Amino acid sequence: MSENAAATPTDSPEAVQAGLVSSAYQQALEVIAGVEPRVAEATRQELADQRASLKLIASENYASPAVLLTMGTWFSDKYAEGTVGHRFYAGCQNVDTVEALAAEHARELFGAEYAYAQPHSGIDANLVAFWSILAHRVEGPWLEKYGAKNVNELSEEDWESLRHELGNQRLLGMSLDAGGHLTHGFRPNISGKMFHQQQYGTDPQTGLLDYDAVRAKAKEFRPLVLVAGYSAYPRRVNFAKMREIADEVGATLMVDMAHFAGLVAGKVFTGDEDPVPHAHVVTTTTHKSLRGPRGGLVLAQEEYAPSVDRGCPMVLGGPLSHVMAAKAVALAEARQPSFAGYAQRIADNATSLADGFLSRGANLVTGGTDNHLVLLDVSSFGLTGRQAESALLDAGVVTNRNSVPADPNGAWYTSGIRLGTPALTTRGFGHDEFDQVAALIVDVLKSTTPGTTKAGGPSKASYRLEDGVADKTRAASAEMLDKHPLYPGLELV
Ligand SMILES: *Cc1c(COP(=O)(O)O)cnc(C)c1O
Repeated sequence: MSENAAATPTDSPEAVQAGLVSSAYQQALEVIAGVEPRVAEATRQELADQRASLKLIASENYASPAVLLTMGTWFSDKYAEGTVGHRFYAGCQNVDTVEALAAEHARELFGAEYAYAQPHSGIDANLVAFWSILAHRVEGPWLEKYGAKNVNELSEEDWESLRHELGNQRLLGMSLDAGGHLTHGFRPNISGKMFHQQQYGTDPQTGLLDYDAVRAKAKEFRPLVLVAGYSAYPRRVNFAKMREIADEVGATLMVDMAHFAGLVAGKVFTGDEDPVPHAHVVTTTTHKSLRGPRGGLVLAQEEYAPSVDRGCPMVLGGPLSHVMAAKAVALAEARQPSFAGYAQRIADNATSLADGFLSRGANLVTGGTDNHLVLLDVSSFGLTGRQAESALLDAGVVTNRNSVPADPNGAWYTSGIRLGTPALTTRGFGHDEFDQVAALIVDVLKSTTPGTTKAGGPSKASYRLEDGVADKTRAASAEMLDKHPLYPGLELV
């Protein structure tokens, strides 16, 4: 192309890029179809389905083609237990390169002292964090007392006592129905079994975190680990205050920013709302608002680094080198100036979505949002979360049901719907479109009535959506979705 040639739609950088991506996927699918055509077909169909629906699941997003393509390589074939430059397997020099890059980008992006890129998912990152805190705070001092370098040097009786000590520690986290995660001490979860646990909730009147109540509980319970972070709380958290509470009781503050890492990366959450300067250990997923590959990360203050490094093979299976490579690509993307704009639009769009509901008379837990999600209480529509979720799915609106605080319908049927803006914001939806999304959802819920059980009572699961509403909603969504194509220019023949 000559330098003077005017950029035409077909030779603009975006078009060239889209052409490369199209042919990469076209050819990959042909290779896959040669072995198992049904997998190739399902993969094509998944793209078509994702393109045609309003994705409002607060924990989902759309990673870039560069991130997705990075995952499909021979890095998948390599074992790399250990850490960068210190592996239990030979020939890890290229894995070292990508893992070191992922960690460096993570440290720079979040201003963290230390980053560990190996966790396979958010839950795995939390397991690494728990064991790291136990090793640092309990096992370390114990070994020191016995003058031992590691557990192999302990006598059988001493090892038995250490095991008892490790299994006898306390954790305080946010309850599931207040918006916390299963791994924050929920009884049936391993975190609620390996630790003596207690949970803090939110204020029954306002639905907001009550720091004085958290402090009172921490002072009474004196946990080793104080966990902050959430999956379904529509508000920001003051992590400086949480650190103060942790310090008052001698706890380690662990923040799980799985949901809102993108807002931290994009500097929407700064100062007291940025967990990294305040927490001893921060865990996250990389695939939610951060918009990377499916995976996890641990960030830590230097003193926790040696115990975090023992994640694999003491807690985790061998690292997924192809995913660590994709984390490096995604984190490089998040360090570009445009990511801050994306993060700000996520938050602005959530405000628009919340206002859209409130102006149409719907109830939101906490009365609104100041992060990336809203929690819609559907009981005023006479529905359970399960009925609302199903009726919305019929109309092409993908959400998930979620309990509201003190939910009368329990964790299975629930009374809420959780909606997040990261995915549609990636597609380019803006303020007015999120208002229209709220209008469509209210319309579907108003047109849905609960079914009846065999005994004649109101059902919590079955429902009836008025004729024509699903089609009308799909048509209105399609107009917006067509305006903001997913992976623009990616065409498969
Ligand atoms: C999503 C989430 C997780 C779990 O992430 P996975 O990658 O599914 O293991 C952990 N903690 C919080 C707060 C989450 O929202």
